[in-house]
Amino acid sequence: MRPAVRPDLRRLSGYHSALVDVEVRLNTNESPFGPPEAWRTELTAAVARLDLNRYPDRHVSALRHELAQHHGVAVEQVYCANGSNEVLQSLLLAYGGPGRTVAVFEPTYQLHAHIARITGTDVAVGQRTDDHALDLAEVARVLADSKPVMTFLCSPNNPTGRAEPAEVVDAVAALAPGLLVVDEAYGQFARTTALERLKHERPEDAVTVVVRTFSKTWSMAGVRLGYLVGPPEVVEACQAVTLPYHLDAVKQEAGRLALRYTAEMEARVALLVEERGRVAARFGSLPVDTWPSDANFILFRPRNQTASAVWNGLVERSVLVRDCSTWPGLSGCLRVTVGTPEENDRFLEALEACLQ
Ligand code: PMP
Repeated sequence: MRPAVRPDLRRLSGYHSALVDVEVRLNTNESPFGPPEAWRTELTAAVARLDLNRYPDRHVSALRHELAQHHGVAVEQVYCANGSNEVLQSLLLAYGGPGRTVAVFEPTYQLHAHIARITGTDVAVGQRTDDHALDLAEVARVLADSKPVMTFLCSPNNPTGRAEPAEVVDAVAALAPGLLVVDEAYGQFARTTALERLKHERPEDAVTVVVRTFSKTWSMAGVRLGYLVGPPEVVEACQAVTLPYHLDAVKQEAGRLALRYTAEMEARVALLVEERGRVAARFGSLPVDTWPSDANFILFRPRNQTASAVWNGLVERSVLVRDCSTWPGLSGCLRVTVGTPEENDRFLEALEACLQ
């Protein structure tokens, strides 16, 4: 008899964006711009010097050191993994598991709950308000009922777009009984960051952990590199559940060298923020509901047509966006990533044609 897969896994469905061959891909919130050419040249030279017959630096010392400097924290406060999803997985392996609960507030990034369930962790689900803001009374209720070991926030929140104001994060930290994990995959697009909290944390508050990625603002989604900044004991706990040599030598170099191009990264972010404003303004003259965004994507809801009709119409015009209409609290909604000016024009023209 063949072995059966864990019964709790059979109930889970995967988290995947549709794979469709199109000219304009605005469905997975990557950067539309490649990384700087000079970074590629430096990386190629660095890779040529690597002893690839040897295992990589197990402690990821150089990259963690540079990240610590970048954020003005100690090296013991930085943990790196293969994308921020793997950082989330390490946190859940270390602090979750059977008999433990984490809290999320829908609609939010689906992988928080999904990875939790893969690790056998229970998920307490709270709801955001109709305009997708956190309702602190609801947060207090869910946290008091479920006493989660970790509370997840996502700021800016994927897929709704808004960053949490600092006072809201502070209020949640005062209510949360365990770790407060703030996923800042899109952090550089926003004006606030929970990294500020790390400098003046109150002992009575939840311990804050900030998760970041090289996939979006750094134009390095293909490299798969993410990290967290938090207290040393959280870093140690994550290291305890990490496989030996999990971060390959090429990736460690890629991340380390990327930090030399912070100004270029910030210039790309500024351009995308400008384009975000342009796309948002055009939405204002179309029959769609839309929500303000502090990230590199915008959530919108066509007023007179179903999400799937518009999604299909866009694909027919070779533009791919994300259909979020089956996600909790997002019926009728689509999410578009801000692309290059040309891509955004293609999207806006196609959308106008679909909505006519
Ligand atoms: N967090 C959020 C909020 C995201 O939107 C994403 C990417 N979809 C991730 C984490 C994962 O990014 P990566 O694993 O590429 O670092």
